[in-house]
Amino acid sequence: MAARTELQRKFCMVDCLEIIQNPDRHNIKLFLQCVKCSMPLDDIFYFLIVLLREKKELSDRFLIFCPTIRTCSKLFTMFRINFKNNMKLIDYIEMYHSKTPDDVKEYVRDDMSKVNGKIRVLIATSAAGMGVNFKGVANTINFGCPRDMDSFVQQYGRAGRDGGNAMSILIFTKRDIRSVDDDMKLYVQNESHCRRETILSAYKCKPLTDRNVHMCCDICAKKCQVKDCEECCVSQHPFYNTKLPAYDSTSSDDDDDDVYSDAEWD
Ligand SMILES: [Zn+2]
Ligand SMILES: [Zn+2]
Repeated sequence: MAARTELQRKFCMVDCLEIIQNPDRHNIKLFLQCVKCSMPLDDIFYFLIVLLREKKELSDRFLIFCPTIRTCSKLFTMFRINFKNNMKLIDYIEMYHSKTPDDVKEYVRDDMSKVNGKIRVLIATSAAGMGVNFKGVANTINFGCPRDMDSFVQQYGRAGRDGGNAMSILIFTKRDIRSVDDDMKLYVQNESHCRRETILSAYKCKPLTDRNVHMCCDICAKKCQVKDCEECCVSQHPFYNTKLPAYDSTSSDDDDDDVYSDAEWD
């Protein structure tokens, strides 16, 4: 792992014994979704707009990690615009990054330390990954690819801390892949191997428990052969359950690597 090698180099540690705790979080189901750079934010987060409108304070709690403060702000603005006819909904959403005013930070930390706090969606940079204990997070979304596997594991591991079933989705564009380390590259380019095993193999670890295909990852879930399986249905990520107004998700095969429109996230 790049981060650990770097630490060892900095502290001049030679032949040190590495003790790595198995990072497997078996209660978190892993999803991966590649989207086009041109796909509008409203479409990517349509499921969450619908969810908040329908369930309001009863919505699951989502933690969205963005690569930059700019992306955080864009996302927040997008929700504001969509909720302009019902501004009460915007109270369920907050931002948390290094430029967030201290009083807001304190409010966020306090609210997020309660399982049933008001905030239902927290849009954050990696600043929220460290040293803060967030409760009741049922879902993490990585919006953009984390630079390295350590960051990714740390961020999605914020979900399901109470032991209940949780979900993690990594939403990325092909352009993201250029600036990530080899482990992350392998992870997002993999289309056929269990996502959990792919993460753990970067730490030379294996899954801790026998896995139910429905709860492991989107690739394992495809192995279910049961027709109209109810478990498949309930364990699907809401991203896929909400029909977009005008987006055909099957048309994402063509290579748009070098075509960027104004809708670029950053
Ligand atoms: Zn799996
Ligand atoms: Zn099934």
